[in-house]
Amino acid sequence: MMLVYAKIDSLQEKLTSFKSNISVGFVPTMGALHQGHLSLIEEAKKNNDIVVVSIFVNPTQFDKKEDLDNYPITMDSDIAMLEDIGCDIVFAPTANEMYTDGLKSEHFDFGGIEYEMEGAFREGHFDGVGTVVKRLFEIVKPHTSYFGEKDFQQLQIIKALVKVENMNIRIVGCPIYRELDGLAMSSRNARLTVAHRKAAPFIRKTLIMAQQKFGTENAPSVLKWVTDSFEKHPLLTLEYFSIADVETLKPIVQRVQNHEYRGFIAVKAGKIRLIDNIEL
Ligand code: AMP
Repeated sequence: MMLVYAKIDSLQEKLTSFKSNISVGFVPTMGALHQGHLSLIEEAKKNNDIVVVSIFVNPTQFDKKEDLDNYPITMDSDIAMLEDIGCDIVFAPTANEMYTDGLKSEHFDFGGIEYEMEGAFREGHFDGVGTVVKRLFEIVKPHTSYFGEKDFQQLQIIKALVKVENMNIRIVGCPIYRELDGLAMSSRNARLTVAHRKAAPFIRKTLIMAQQKFGTENAPSVLKWVTDSFEKHPLLTLEYFSIADVETLKPIVQRVQNHEYRGFIAVKAGKIRLIDNIEL
């Protein structure tokens, strides 16, 4: 039987009733679950005795009220999916339960990665993410927590978070789960218009072409090609494309041996903002 908690106290009472040697795997989500989320939960199930999934649409990580207000909520089907997949415990708190002192973020120093890409385009986003994930980690006290490479910068932020907060939690990154046409699965995809949904696989196709080009061309030339490709596209608007070092997340200046790079992209499809990335 899967257990569902809305209160921190009752969740913690349950968690402390387990023997101290059992391993707890934790998957934080904002709900509107899809196969991408489930792939993280499968990974957690493989390597832990107990799997906890949280569902919480965290207000402090949204820079736009409209985006928060329109974020999809599908709690009943989420619970059914989690029950089906064999999740043990769901934690679905209210905002009041998580933020007793009001909706404020703590400010974090993650060594600079918080100012790149998503950090530059979504003000306060990573302070919000850091605040809620730190709080969730303190509540659940997992041994291992799982995050998708879909949000690669967030994954690096969480790795930095456990370092700066001295938390003994293993952070595992999981590959991007995609629709058959290549579009990275996202809760926001459900909000695309039919035309934008049809156009959206262009993002992945462009990333694959960029990956090929990066084999023979320099970064500025790939960057220009990606920018030009989106300028010609009637429905999709490029917010940024960056070829960045996976550790610093800073745009590449010159390719250096033994450094890994990724191409990171954010695109507006009508009102919906989509992100993706690719290994280079
Ligand atoms: P979210 O509910 O969007 O906050 O996502 C919760 C977790 O699921 C995060 O660690 C995301 O990176 C991960 N995730 C979301 N979409 C995907 C996907 N398509 N593939 C893999 N992980 C994903």
